[in-house]
Amino acid sequence: MASHVTFDLHARDGKARAGAIQTTRGRIRTPAFMPVGTAATVKAMLPESVAATGADVLLGNTYHLMLRPGAERIAALGGLHRFMNWEKPILTDSGGFQVMSLAGLRKLTERGVTFRSHIDGSKHDLTPERSIEIQQLLGADIVMCFDECPALPATDAAVAESMRLSMRWAKRSREAFGDRPGHALFGIQQGGVTEELRGESAEALREIGFDGYAIGGLAVGEGQEAMFGVLEYAPDMLPRNKPRYLMGVGKPDDIVGAVARGIDMMDCVLPSRSGRTGQVFTRHGVLNIKNARHQDDPRPLDEACGCPACRNYSRAYLHHVFRSQEIISSMLLTWHNLHYYQQIMAEMRDAITAGQFADWQSAFHRQREQGDIEPL
Ligand SMILES: [Zn+2]
Repeated sequence: MASHVTFDLHARDGKARAGAIQTTRGRIRTPAFMPVGTAATVKAMLPESVAATGADVLLGNTYHLMLRPGAERIAALGGLHRFMNWEKPILTDSGGFQVMSLAGLRKLTERGVTFRSHIDGSKHDLTPERSIEIQQLLGADIVMCFDECPALPATDAAVAESMRLSMRWAKRSREAFGDRPGHALFGIQQGGVTEELRGESAEALREIGFDGYAIGGLAVGEGQEAMFGVLEYAPDMLPRNKPRYLMGVGKPDDIVGAVARGIDMMDCVLPSRSGRTGQVFTRHGVLNIKNARHQDDPRPLDEACGCPACRNYSRAYLHHVFRSQEIISSMLLTWHNLHYYQQIMAEMRDAITAGQFADWQSAFHRQREQGDIEPL
Protein backbone atom coordinates (compact mmCIF):
# COMPACT_ATOMS: atom_id res chain seq x y z
CA MET A 1 0.00 0.00 0.00
CA ALA A 2 1.22 3.47 -0.83
CA SER A 3 2.29 5.41 2.21
CA HIS A 4 0.88 8.81 2.96
CA VAL A 5 2.27 11.78 4.80
CA THR A 6 0.97 11.64 8.36
CA PHE A 7 1.00 14.02 11.32
CA ASP A 8 1.04 12.82 14.91
CA LEU A 9 0.64 15.18 17.82
CA HIS A 10 2.52 13.89 20.86
CA ALA A 11 1.88 16.64 23.36
CA ARG A 12 0.01 19.85 23.97
CA ASP A 13 0.93 22.47 26.53
CA GLY A 14 -1.40 25.44 26.50
CA LYS A 15 -1.80 26.13 22.79
CA ALA A 16 1.74 24.92 22.00
CA ARG A 17 2.01 21.56 20.26
CA ALA A 18 4.78 18.98 19.79
CA GLY A 19 4.58 16.22 17.21
CA ALA A 20 6.03 14.81 14.01
CA ILE A 21 5.22 14.77 10.31
CA GLN A 22 6.17 11.44 8.78
CA THR A 23 7.20 11.54 5.12
CA THR A 24 8.79 8.90 2.89
CA ARG A 25 12.06 10.87 3.17
CA GLY A 26 12.03 11.03 6.94
CA ARG A 27 10.44 12.49 10.00
CA ILE A 28 9.97 16.21 10.59
CA ARG A 29 9.88 16.93 14.32
CA THR A 30 7.51 19.79 15.18
CA PRO A 31 7.63 22.60 16.04
CA ALA A 32 10.03 22.74 13.09
CA PHE A 33 12.15 25.53 11.69
CA MET A 34 12.97 25.23 7.98
CA PRO A 35 16.16 26.88 6.70
CA VAL A 36 15.70 28.43 3.27
CA GLY A 37 17.61 26.95 0.33
CA THR A 38 16.59 29.54 -2.23
CA ALA A 39 18.66 28.54 -5.25
CA ALA A 40 19.14 24.84 -4.35
CA THR A 41 21.59 25.74 -1.59
CA VAL A 42 21.44 27.16 1.91
CA LYS A 43 24.01 29.86 1.21
CA ALA A 44 27.47 29.25 2.71
CA MET A 45 26.50 25.82 4.07
CA LEU A 46 27.09 22.24 2.91
CA PRO A 47 23.87 20.18 3.09
CA GLU A 48 25.47 17.86 5.68
CA SER A 49 26.28 20.92 7.80
CA VAL A 50 22.64 22.06 7.61
CA ALA A 51 21.57 18.58 8.72
CA ALA A 52 24.12 18.71 11.56
CA THR A 53 22.41 21.81 12.97
CA GLY A 54 19.31 19.63 13.49
CA ALA A 55 17.18 20.67 10.49
CA ASP A 56 14.75 17.97 9.36
CA VAL A 57 13.42 19.83 6.33
CA LEU A 58 14.48 22.56 3.91
CA LEU A 59 12.47 25.10 1.97
CA GLY A 60 13.09 25.54 -1.77
CA ASN A 61 11.85 28.50 -3.80
CA THR A 62 9.79 27.72 -6.90
CA TYR A 63 10.22 31.22 -8.33
CA HIS A 64 14.03 31.11 -8.25
CA LEU A 65 14.36 27.50 -9.40
CA MET A 66 11.91 27.84 -12.32
CA LEU A 67 13.95 30.77 -13.66
CA ARG A 68 17.37 29.25 -13.00
CA PRO A 69 18.26 26.45 -13.66
CA GLY A 70 14.65 25.53 -14.62
CA ALA A 71 12.32 22.88 -13.20
CA GLU A 72 12.49 20.57 -16.24
CA ARG A 73 16.30 20.59 -16.05
CA ILE A 74 16.28 19.69 -12.35
CA ALA A 75 13.74 16.90 -13.04
CA ALA A 76 15.95 15.51 -15.82
CA LEU A 77 18.87 15.50 -13.39
CA GLY A 78 16.95 13.39 -10.88
CA GLY A 79 14.99 15.97 -8.90
CA LEU A 80 15.91 18.64 -6.38
CA HIS A 81 16.98 16.26 -3.57
CA ARG A 82 19.59 14.62 -5.76
CA PHE A 83 20.55 17.84 -7.53
CA MET A 84 21.45 19.61 -4.27
CA ASN A 85 22.48 16.50 -2.29
CA TRP A 86 19.80 16.82 0.42
CA GLU A 87 18.09 13.52 1.21
CA LYS A 88 15.65 14.72 3.85
CA PRO A 89 12.26 16.27 3.14
CA ILE A 90 11.91 19.45 1.09
CA LEU A 91 8.99 21.87 1.14
CA THR A 92 8.65 24.18 -1.85
CA ASP A 93 6.73 27.43 -1.86
CA SER A 94 4.39 28.11 -4.76
CA GLY A 95 6.26 31.05 -6.26
CA GLY A 96 3.28 33.36 -5.74
CA PHE A 97 4.80 35.47 -2.98
CA GLN A 98 8.14 35.95 -4.73
CA VAL A 99 6.56 36.82 -8.06
CA MET A 100 4.84 39.64 -6.19
CA SER A 101 7.97 40.78 -4.37
CA LEU A 102 10.73 40.24 -6.98
CA ALA A 103 9.49 39.98 -10.54
CA GLY A 104 8.96 42.88 -12.93
CA LEU A 105 5.94 43.89 -15.05
CA ARG A 106 3.44 41.61 -13.33
CA LYS A 107 0.01 41.10 -14.80
CA LEU A 108 -2.54 39.38 -12.59
CA THR A 109 -5.65 37.72 -14.03
CA GLU A 110 -8.10 35.04 -12.88
CA ARG A 111 -5.98 32.51 -14.72
CA GLY A 112 -2.66 33.40 -13.02
CA VAL A 113 0.27 35.80 -13.26
CA THR A 114 2.53 36.77 -16.13
CA PHE A 115 5.76 38.49 -15.23
CA ARG A 116 9.29 39.28 -16.30
CA SER A 117 12.28 37.57 -14.68
CA HIS A 118 14.32 39.78 -12.33
CA ILE A 119 17.42 38.02 -13.73
CA ASP A 120 17.18 38.57 -17.49
CA GLY A 121 13.79 40.18 -18.18
CA SER A 122 12.42 37.05 -19.90
CA LYS A 123 8.65 36.61 -19.87
CA HIS A 124 7.04 33.85 -17.76
CA ASP A 125 3.67 32.53 -16.82
CA LEU A 126 2.64 31.10 -13.46
CA THR A 127 -0.78 29.58 -12.80
CA PRO A 128 -1.96 27.24 -10.04
CA GLU A 129 -1.56 24.32 -12.46
CA ARG A 130 1.95 25.32 -13.55
CA SER A 131 3.08 25.99 -9.97
CA ILE A 132 1.96 22.51 -8.89
CA GLU A 133 3.64 20.99 -11.96
CA ILE A 134 6.93 22.77 -11.17
CA GLN A 135 6.84 21.63 -7.56
CA GLN A 136 6.23 18.05 -8.73
CA LEU A 137 9.11 18.29 -11.22
CA LEU A 138 11.35 19.44 -8.35
CA GLY A 139 10.15 16.45 -6.32
CA ALA A 140 9.02 18.41 -3.26
CA ASP A 141 7.69 16.31 -0.39
CA ILE A 142 5.44 19.13 0.73
CA VAL A 143 3.86 21.22 -2.01
CA MET A 144 2.19 24.60 -1.43
CA CYS A 145 -0.93 25.93 -3.13
CA PHE A 146 -0.44 28.81 -5.53
CA ASP A 147 -1.73 31.96 -3.88
CA GLU A 148 -1.64 35.70 -4.11
CA CYS A 149 -0.45 37.92 -1.29
CA PRO A 150 -1.59 41.55 -1.56
CA ALA A 151 1.00 44.23 -0.96
CA LEU A 152 0.33 46.13 2.30
CA PRO A 153 -1.12 48.55 3.14
CA ALA A 154 -4.31 47.44 1.39
CA THR A 155 -7.98 48.18 1.94
CA ASP A 156 -10.24 45.49 3.44
CA ALA A 157 -11.98 45.22 0.08
CA ALA A 158 -8.68 44.59 -1.72
CA VAL A 159 -7.60 42.02 0.88
CA ALA A 160 -10.97 40.24 0.58
CA GLU A 161 -10.83 40.18 -3.21
CA SER A 162 -7.28 38.84 -3.18
CA MET A 163 -8.14 36.18 -0.55
CA ARG A 164 -11.12 34.96 -2.61
CA LEU A 165 -8.93 34.69 -5.70
CA SER A 166 -6.41 32.67 -3.65
CA MET A 167 -9.23 30.33 -2.52
CA ARG A 168 -10.29 29.72 -6.13
CA TRP A 169 -6.63 29.05 -6.93
CA ALA A 170 -6.43 26.70 -3.92
CA LYS A 171 -9.23 24.60 -5.44
CA ARG A 172 -7.42 24.52 -8.79
CA SER A 173 -4.16 23.62 -7.01
CA ARG A 174 -5.90 20.70 -5.26
CA GLU A 175 -7.29 19.43 -8.57
CA ALA A 176 -3.92 19.77 -10.31
CA PHE A 177 -2.14 17.96 -7.45
CA GLY A 178 -4.47 14.95 -7.58
CA ASP A 179 -3.60 11.98 -5.39
CA ARG A 180 0.14 11.60 -4.86
CA PRO A 181 1.01 9.05 -2.15
CA GLY A 182 4.04 10.10 -0.13
CA HIS A 183 3.55 13.78 -0.98
CA ALA A 184 1.55 16.41 0.84
CA LEU A 185 -0.30 19.48 -0.37
CA PHE A 186 -0.80 22.41 2.00
CA GLY A 187 -3.46 25.09 1.63
CA ILE A 188 -2.69 28.72 2.56
CA GLN A 189 -5.01 30.86 4.63
CA GLN A 190 -5.14 34.53 3.64
CA GLY A 191 -7.27 37.44 4.83
CA GLY A 192 -4.75 39.97 6.14
CA VAL A 193 -5.32 41.08 9.73
CA THR A 194 -9.12 40.80 9.57
CA GLU A 195 -10.64 38.00 11.67
CA GLU A 196 -13.75 37.69 9.51
CA LEU A 197 -11.72 37.25 6.31
CA ARG A 198 -9.36 34.77 8.00
CA GLY A 199 -12.45 32.78 9.02
CA GLU A 200 -13.90 32.82 5.51
CA SER A 201 -10.53 31.68 4.09
CA ALA A 202 -10.17 28.85 6.64
CA GLU A 203 -13.70 27.66 5.85
CA ALA A 204 -12.95 27.56 2.10
CA LEU A 205 -9.73 25.60 2.68
CA ARG A 206 -11.33 23.08 5.05
CA GLU A 207 -14.01 22.44 2.49
CA ILE A 208 -11.39 21.60 -0.16
CA GLY A 209 -9.32 19.55 2.31
CA PHE A 210 -5.51 19.62 2.62
CA ASP A 211 -2.72 17.64 4.31
CA GLY A 212 -1.62 20.76 6.17
CA TYR A 213 -2.54 24.42 6.47
CA ALA A 214 -0.33 27.47 6.20
CA ILE A 215 -1.00 30.95 7.47
CA GLY A 216 0.08 33.33 4.72
CA GLY A 217 0.09 37.08 4.34
CA LEU A 218 1.86 37.76 7.65
CA ALA A 219 5.46 38.84 8.30
CA VAL A 220 5.05 41.36 5.48
CA GLY A 221 5.69 44.47 7.55
CA GLU A 222 2.63 44.51 9.81
CA GLY A 223 4.76 44.28 12.97
CA GLN A 224 4.93 41.66 15.73
CA GLU A 225 1.97 42.95 17.69
CA ALA A 226 -0.39 42.78 14.69
CA MET A 227 0.98 39.36 13.72
CA PHE A 228 0.49 37.94 17.23
CA GLY A 229 -2.98 39.51 17.17
CA VAL A 230 -3.88 37.37 14.13
CA LEU A 231 -2.23 34.32 15.68
CA GLU A 232 -4.55 34.63 18.69
CA TYR A 233 -7.39 33.31 16.49
CA ALA A 234 -6.10 32.15 13.07
CA PRO A 235 -4.54 28.78 14.09
CA ASP A 236 -7.75 27.81 15.94
CA MET A 237 -9.67 28.18 12.68
CA LEU A 238 -7.60 25.39 11.09
CA PRO A 239 -8.01 21.63 11.68
CA ARG A 240 -6.37 20.53 14.94
CA ASN A 241 -5.09 17.24 13.53
CA LYS A 242 -3.06 18.78 10.67
CA PRO A 243 0.22 20.72 10.70
CA ARG A 244 -0.01 24.52 10.81
CA TYR A 245 2.73 26.42 9.03
CA LEU A 246 3.41 30.12 9.54
CA MET A 247 5.17 31.33 6.39
CA GLY A 248 8.22 33.60 6.45
CA VAL A 249 8.70 33.90 10.23
CA GLY A 250 10.90 35.13 11.74
CA LYS A 251 13.12 36.51 14.53
CA PRO A 252 13.71 34.18 17.51
CA ASP A 253 11.06 35.89 19.66
CA ASP A 254 8.55 35.76 16.74
CA ILE A 255 9.14 32.02 16.50
CA VAL A 256 8.68 31.41 20.21
CA GLY A 257 5.52 33.56 20.24
CA ALA A 258 4.14 31.68 17.23
CA VAL A 259 4.74 28.27 18.80
CA ALA A 260 3.01 29.51 21.97
CA ARG A 261 -0.02 30.28 19.78
CA GLY A 262 -0.23 26.84 18.17
CA ILE A 263 2.11 26.98 15.14
CA ASP A 264 3.98 23.80 14.12
CA MET A 265 6.25 24.93 11.26
CA MET A 266 8.08 28.08 10.19
CA ASP A 267 10.69 29.22 7.67
CA CYS A 268 12.80 32.32 7.33
CA VAL A 269 15.92 33.56 5.54
CA LEU A 270 16.86 35.59 8.62
CA PRO A 271 19.40 33.24 10.31
CA SER A 272 21.23 32.50 7.06
CA ARG A 273 21.03 36.02 5.59
CA SER A 274 22.13 37.55 8.91
CA GLY A 275 25.10 35.19 8.95
CA ARG A 276 26.35 36.96 5.84
CA THR A 277 25.79 40.46 7.21
CA GLY A 278 27.47 39.88 10.58
CA GLN A 279 24.30 39.76 12.65
CA VAL A 280 24.44 36.99 15.26
CA PHE A 281 21.57 35.55 17.33
CA THR A 282 22.36 34.10 20.73
CA ARG A 283 20.53 33.31 23.97
CA HIS A 284 21.37 36.88 24.96
CA GLY A 285 19.80 38.55 21.96
CA VAL A 286 21.46 40.00 18.88
CA LEU A 287 25.05 41.08 18.44
CA ASN A 288 26.90 42.57 15.51
CA ILE A 289 30.28 40.98 14.91
CA LYS A 290 31.62 43.98 12.99
CA ASN A 291 31.44 46.08 16.16
CA ALA A 292 34.96 47.08 17.32
CA ARG A 293 34.23 45.81 20.85
CA HIS A 294 34.90 42.26 19.58
CA GLN A 295 38.33 42.83 18.02
CA ASP A 296 40.39 41.80 21.08
CA ASP A 297 37.82 39.44 22.63
CA PRO A 298 39.09 35.84 22.96
CA ARG A 299 35.67 34.52 24.08
CA PRO A 300 33.21 32.62 21.84
CA LEU A 301 29.93 34.12 20.56
CA ASP A 302 28.15 32.04 23.19
CA GLU A 303 30.04 29.80 25.59
CA ALA A 304 27.00 27.52 25.90
CA CYS A 305 26.68 26.94 22.13
CA GLY A 306 28.02 23.70 20.64
CA CYS A 307 28.39 24.88 17.03
CA PRO A 308 31.82 24.93 15.30
CA ALA A 309 31.96 28.75 15.32
CA CYS A 310 31.59 28.81 19.11
CA ARG A 311 33.64 25.69 19.88
CA ASN A 312 36.71 26.65 17.85
CA TYR A 313 36.82 30.38 17.22
CA SER A 314 36.96 33.61 19.21
CA ARG A 315 34.90 36.73 18.69
CA ALA A 316 38.19 38.41 17.72
CA TYR A 317 38.73 35.91 14.88
CA LEU A 318 35.11 36.14 13.68
CA HIS A 319 35.38 39.93 13.76
CA HIS A 320 38.62 39.78 11.76
CA VAL A 321 37.34 37.44 9.02
CA PHE A 322 34.12 39.44 8.72
CA ARG A 323 36.04 42.70 8.34
CA SER A 324 38.37 41.03 5.83
CA GLN A 325 35.37 39.73 3.88
CA GLU A 326 36.68 36.18 4.09
CA ILE A 327 34.26 33.46 2.92
CA ILE A 328 34.70 31.56 6.19
CA SER A 329 32.95 34.41 7.96
CA SER A 330 29.65 33.67 6.19
CA MET A 331 30.15 29.95 6.74
CA LEU A 332 30.76 30.17 10.49
CA LEU A 333 28.16 32.84 11.30
CA THR A 334 25.46 31.11 9.22
CA TRP A 335 26.26 27.81 10.93
CA HIS A 336 26.00 29.42 14.35
CA ASN A 337 22.69 31.16 13.57
CA LEU A 338 21.09 28.02 12.12
CA HIS A 339 22.39 25.99 15.07
CA TYR A 340 20.89 28.49 17.50
CA TYR A 341 17.50 28.42 15.75
CA GLN A 342 17.43 24.61 15.80
CA GLN A 343 18.51 24.67 19.46
CA ILE A 344 15.46 26.80 20.30
CA MET A 345 13.20 24.41 18.39
CA ALA A 346 14.63 21.35 20.19
CA GLU A 347 14.29 23.02 23.59
CA MET A 348 10.69 24.02 22.81
CA ARG A 349 9.79 20.48 21.71
CA ASP A 350 11.23 19.12 24.96
CA ALA A 351 9.53 21.77 27.10
CA ILE A 352 6.12 21.17 25.48
CA THR A 353 6.49 17.42 25.91
CA ALA A 354 7.43 17.91 29.57
CA GLY A 355 4.52 20.31 30.13
CA GLN A 356 6.95 23.11 31.02
CA PHE A 357 6.58 25.42 28.04
CA ALA A 358 5.51 28.49 30.04
CA ASP A 359 8.61 28.18 32.27
CA TRP A 360 10.85 27.71 29.25
CA GLN A 361 9.33 30.77 27.60
CA SER A 362 9.96 32.97 30.67
CA ALA A 363 13.58 31.78 30.86
CA PHE A 364 14.01 32.50 27.12
CA HIS A 365 12.83 36.09 27.55
CA ARG A 366 14.80 36.59 30.80
CA GLN A 367 18.08 35.57 29.15
CA ARG A 368 17.47 37.86 26.18
CA GLU A 369 16.70 40.80 28.43
CA GLN A 370 20.16 40.46 30.01
CA GLY A 371 21.70 41.40 26.67
CA ASP A 372 25.12 40.39 25.32
CA ILE A 373 27.98 39.70 27.76
CA GLU A 374 29.87 42.75 29.04
CA PRO A 375 32.84 43.88 26.88
CA LEU A 376 36.24 42.95 28.31
ZN1 LIG B 1 27.47 28.89 18.11
